[in-house]
Amino acid sequence: MAEKRSLPQALWRQIPSVERLLQEEPLQEAADAHGRQAVVEAVRETLEATREAIGAGQAPDLSVAGLVKAVLERLERRVTPTLRPVINATGVIIHTNLGRAPLSEAALQAMREIGGGYSNLEYDLEAGRRGSRYTHVGALLAELTGAEAGLVANNNAAALVLILATHAAGREVLISRGQLVEIGGGFRIPDIMAQSGAILREVGTTNRTYAHDYEAAITPDVTAMILRVHTSNFQLLGFVHQPALSELAQIARHHGLLLADDVGSGALLDTTQFGLAYEPRPQDSLAAGADLVCFSGDKLLGGPQAGCIVGRRELVEAIKRHPLMRAFRVDKTTLAGLDATLRAYQRGTAVEEIPVWQMIAYPAEEIHATALDWADRLHRARLNVEVVPGHSAVGGGSLPGQTLPTWLVAIRAPHPSEAAAALRRHRPPIVVRIEDDRLLIDPRTVLPDQEEALLRGLETTLAP
Ligand SMILES: *Cc1c(COP(=O)(O)O)cnc(C)c1O
Repeated sequence: MAEKRSLPQALWRQIPSVERLLQEEPLQEAADAHGRQAVVEAVRETLEATREAIGAGQAPDLSVAGLVKAVLERLERRVTPTLRPVINATGVIIHTNLGRAPLSEAALQAMREIGGGYSNLEYDLEAGRRGSRYTHVGALLAELTGAEAGLVANNNAAALVLILATHAAGREVLISRGQLVEIGGGFRIPDIMAQSGAILREVGTTNRTYAHDYEAAITPDVTAMILRVHTSNFQLLGFVHQPALSELAQIARHHGLLLADDVGSGALLDTTQFGLAYEPRPQDSLAAGADLVCFSGDKLLGGPQAGCIVGRRELVEAIKRHPLMRAFRVDKTTLAGLDATLRAYQRGTAVEEIPVWQMIAYPAEEIHATALDWADRLHRARLNVEVVPGHSAVGGGSLPGQTLPTWLVAIRAPHPSEAAAALRRHRPPIVVRIEDDRLLIDPRTVLPDQEEALLRGLETTLAP
């Protein structure tokens, strides 16, 4: 018994003090870079862990060099931001878990310029007095969609709450049972409606809803609005029916109701030109007679997180005056980034400038050539690779089930899920798809300036 206790005590006595370790050159340099407090904390934690290891009967490295190394590793974890860039090799273009749309160069520049200084965010430069932040992107949104007015909120969920809270609180909103959807991350249309104070009135059935279902559900002075929600993340096939938006517009006009359309992804371009299915465009909804249309800024629009509302002027103005607008208002950097993104549509250069559209338009032959290049280099690093045909997805609550033909670098690995985990731990982390016993790398979603980091990461992590 006595002998058992003396062993840890002997080891404990060998542990250097905090002050002793702090004198080491690498830790002094670390203190200059990251602040003394962070280094002191890392030293304390390291020594504590060392004592615990001894107590558990282990024999940890007690050399000063070994402890300094452990402190530096701990420090690195403490000072590295938890939010950091990753390489998306999955081929899912708008990957919600990976931050949705990467921003264009123009958007980043504008966000830097406006974010790094003062601006006329809420200042009328002509009149020299207080202005409104909502003047900045609204007019451009309106111009691009053919609306009378536009408005920007934090995200599309907020945009929908604002529309409902302003124009239907305490009154009924008709929505097809086929559109009572969950968009993901706990965003459910019925919950959103409840939060807004609007009363949900379901019409039709899950698979078939007719114009007359809406008409039959209208109660004069109680019904305020017809809401259509784009079923953006699933497809209903077979015996299905939904009335055209123009039919709903007729009903709404006839009964003095508003018609709102949540189109989801904010595709300002025609997706069919890229061989994809039609994704509803805000301008088409307005042309079909919707009074208000809302959509995300960071899906197919390709900008920063935002919720855009376009429609009739007096309806948009009323939303601006709603008290919730203050809770859902956007930051100046968002407005700057969104404005710069929308300017590319105004110039007609969205496909050339906006990463989401560049990736959608990335020709399969070019992807093939890139995949062959990469495979060649990885083969030289003695990885077991081949190039195979496959599919990329648009993702992000748009174009469900729609894919783009692509070419994949397939890497055979004995333990694919362990290999994928090692790639996620790499700096920068690399996220891949796994299929059977292969890791699949899709060049479509790897940004040009990440190519070298990707290849080096694959080589060092997977080389036999
Ligand atoms: C994605 C989506 C939303 C939510 O948009 P956020 O910008 O993520 O808040 C709402 N409605 C539809 C139809 C969507 O596709």
